[in-house]
Amino acid sequence: MALNIILLGPPGAGKGTQAGCLVAEHGMAQLSTGDMLREARKADSDLGRQVAAVMDSGALVSDEIVSALIDDRLATMPADQGAIFDGYPRTAAQAESLDAILDARGRALAHVIELEVDEDALVDRITGRFTCAACGEGYHDRHKLPATAGTCDKCGGTEFKRRADDNEETVRTRMAEYRAKTAPILPIYEARGIVSRVDGMADMDAVSNAIEAILFPA
Ligand SMILES: [Zn+2]
Repeated sequence: MALNIILLGPPGAGKGTQAGCLVAEHGMAQLSTGDMLREARKADSDLGRQVAAVMDSGALVSDEIVSALIDDRLATMPADQGAIFDGYPRTAAQAESLDAILDARGRALAHVIELEVDEDALVDRITGRFTCAACGEGYHDRHKLPATAGTCDKCGGTEFKRRADDNEETVRTRMAEYRAKTAPILPIYEARGIVSRVDGMADMDAVSNAIEAILFPA
């Protein structure tokens, strides 16, 4: 029986990394609506042309279109391949559609996993980070400075870079957006008893292990 899950988490919680682990280690498929829309608009199909027209007009893509994309994707997947939903559903209506789509394909939602972050700790983590411009090694103003100031430990490079959007205001805005997006759907899944929360601030392996323990209990 395929394992179908929703993975939730604010930007910076490591959702992409964890989804990547599940894809690599368990052969699950990541159904990211953002990626699916970008792919669809490139495709030479009726649905692709509809998506392109809506996106170009600046309007939001309708629930019907998103549902059709998800159903198309599920149709191409082996029955026993698990699905990770990412960025969907975002409304109660979409949650209802997802149930119907899954049900029609003999699937059901097994878990909703939320990577939890402490907002202040996330601000601290994100606002201090920088990387070596040459090799990409990651550093942090407060937690991981190069052994010799201004010189990369890995490659000896002396140029570093920071992302312009790694600032406190952006982090807090994204957290508020995330809460607003998940607020309509979390209670639906909580009522079913399928929501699990994992500490997204723990190190990557600990987060992976916690997710494994939920999805594949011994
Ligand atoms: Zn370097």
